[in-house]
Amino acid sequence: MDKSANLIGKNLPQLSDILSNAGYQNVNPSLLAHTLYKKFGRPLSSIATYPKSLRQFLEENFSTDVLQPILKLQSTDGTIKGLFENEDGKLFEAAWIPAVKRMTICVSSQAGCRFGCKFCSTGQNGFKGNLNVYEILSQIFGLQKPFNHIVFMGMGEPLDNFANVKKSIDILTAWWGVSLAHRYITISTVGLIPELQLAIEQLRCNLAISLHSPFHNERKSIMPVENIYPIHEVISMLKAQKFTPKRRLSFEYLLIKDFNDSKSHAMETGKLLKDMESHVNLIVYNPIPSQNFGAPDTSTIENFRKILNLQGLRVTIRKSSGYDISAACGMMTGSR
Ligand code: SF4
Repeated sequence: MDKSANLIGKNLPQLSDILSNAGYQNVNPSLLAHTLYKKFGRPLSSIATYPKSLRQFLEENFSTDVLQPILKLQSTDGTIKGLFENEDGKLFEAAWIPAVKRMTICVSSQAGCRFGCKFCSTGQNGFKGNLNVYEILSQIFGLQKPFNHIVFMGMGEPLDNFANVKKSIDILTAWWGVSLAHRYITISTVGLIPELQLAIEQLRCNLAISLHSPFHNERKSIMPVENIYPIHEVISMLKAQKFTPKRRLSFEYLLIKDFNDSKSHAMETGKLLKDMESHVNLIVYNPIPSQNFGAPDTSTIENFRKILNLQGLRVTIRKSSGYDISAACGMMTGSR
């Protein structure tokens, strides 16, 4: 067997098959899974209850190495960004964002992105490919930092790589895996309705919908996905679902100066999200070189928040982390 066969990314049934095929039907596969994920970094030989011959077999035939960042940058705010390269030479990035009581890893689900949002560096650099489960988990373990939250808000549209994102989340949340509660994982999406429906049915984690404008033509001008899945249809579909405080639904609204930051935008957003059990995150635009968009001033941001609040919406003005190392929202390009 090829020693380069890697166990990271395999789920419990796959690990069970590996053990059975090697003639060890009666050992507990969850001990192997636990060593891989909960005790990441421990050698396979440390599974003391496995027979010595099995430990030797695993050590000799399988690797548990993850991809390591080929470049690491640290922001003045403490954020650390890692650049990863897979065996095909595709580049992708992850960021570790420390805050009080919260250590978040922001992971990429794709190298590049095919959705071409105008305000996003990733989208402006095209699509290179989906990341597999090993590559997604490598970002989490390879940064070698403690974490208690995972957000799929790096490069790519997570629901466009549904199967690999789902399997990664299964490993992160399983009792035999990392055992992270679903409520500490958030998927951010532009709103691909069929996959969003699947995510609601099959994943129990939080969902963050990229809204950015309540007006069809305007949203279309910055988010081509609006042509296929208009935000009004996304919201109608979401209004028919049940969300609880354990599973949060939020809307991300990127405030761009003199584009979507007016009183009428705030009023219309309030109307659109009326009666939804949701939260609005206002994010101030982070300028990227290829676009002429700018960031609104503080009073405009505050006024926007107040109008939403007056319409009964819960709102947070979210601080972007890692701007100086291009790790903030919409800034990841996966370049050296
Ligand atoms: S915002 Fe998300 S979906 Fe849009 S281009 Fe960027 S990575 Fe893709």
